[in-house]
Amino acid sequence: MATHILDAMAREGFEEILALHDARSGLRAFLAIHDSSAGPAFGGIRRWAYEDEDHALRDALRLARAMTYKCALADLSAGGAKMVVLDRPGLDASAAYRAIGDLAERLRGRWYTGPDVGTGEPELRSVAARTRYATDPGPEGPGLLVESTVEGVFRGLEAALVHLDGAADFPRRSVVVQGLGEVGAGLAQRLAEQGARVRASDLDHDRALAVSRELEIELVDPATEFDQRCDVFAPCALGGILHDLTIARLRCRVVAGGANNVLARTAHGDRLHERGILYAPDFVLNAGALVRGALFHLEGRREPIEEIGRRIGATTARILARARDESMAPSRVAIDEAEDVLAERRASRG
Ligand code: NAD
Repeated sequence: MATHILDAMAREGFEEILALHDARSGLRAFLAIHDSSAGPAFGGIRRWAYEDEDHALRDALRLARAMTYKCALADLSAGGAKMVVLDRPGLDASAAYRAIGDLAERLRGRWYTGPDVGTGEPELRSVAARTRYATDPGPEGPGLLVESTVEGVFRGLEAALVHLDGAADFPRRSVVVQGLGEVGAGLAQRLAEQGARVRASDLDHDRALAVSRELEIELVDPATEFDQRCDVFAPCALGGILHDLTIARLRCRVVAGGANNVLARTAHGDRLHERGILYAPDFVLNAGALVRGALFHLEGRREPIEEIGRRIGATTARILARARDESMAPSRVAIDEAEDVLAERRASRG
């Protein structure tokens, strides 16, 4: 992989990849900028204990491209990027995040950044202290980012049920949520409030117990989520979890969740389609925080969460309807639509 970076960039339309090494903080990171043909590239900072730098770079590329798709389908004048930080012993996190802030400032608004797995409020404060091109987690920033994500995922999931059965009818539904972090716990709460039967898992046992007690939901063991009979499986942990082995185990009618890059490969969207499981594409459902943050930075306004959810629900319904009309996997339809938007933008740029 490392020796074929330029081939991968050309194949997938990437503009730029920056490798960062900061000796003082121990920072090692990649910034992948996928597309800035319509406006600045938006993408948060993921900090993770990657196996090696190839895995980290691969993750950055996939996540950045998904961000471009999110922007295209959410009709934002923006493109996608992602920074991945290799989390390893000895990393001085606050100095590392300050160095990332300095990079964002040097890029002068070509890249706007914000939270992702491993980057929460304290880390963002370190970034925002050094640059105006980061989402301020305090009262000066857009606020309600996770809430926007949760609202979008909830409305997308609802649209999928309406698509199948004509009504969401939550009191008759059972949902299995994988991952009870910020998004998963928020979604579980929303679904429980609507009367759905919610079961959930988290690798972090203490967290799983605390959230399940607070929300009064049932727990299932991690890795058994795939085997649970339910209406909806909602992946809200990490990506790449649906592949040949796990898809064969699913006993749900719908997959709709907040995690990025749920499908190990695009072809796994086709596998779900062949199995008759409706897949609501992740980058359609989980764009809420991006929409809220991007409109704040680009237009100086805080888009109401209800409006964000309404738009994501409507986009999901449109994509699922087209998938049915054309007998295609919804994941293919969503990618096609996003690619069409990109092609138009690039053509109009000349
Ligand atoms: P988080 O770090 O708060 O939560 C993730 C949770 O998943 C953690 O509690 C972790 O222990 C658990 N987990 C990890 N692997 C697991 C597994 N195999 N089985 C069960 N649990 C597992 O992250 P988050 O902010 O809630 O984000 C969750 C997902 O949603 C990520 O894929 C993220 O990229 C995506 N996402 C988040 C936002 C947002 O606004 N936070 C926006 C768009 C997409």
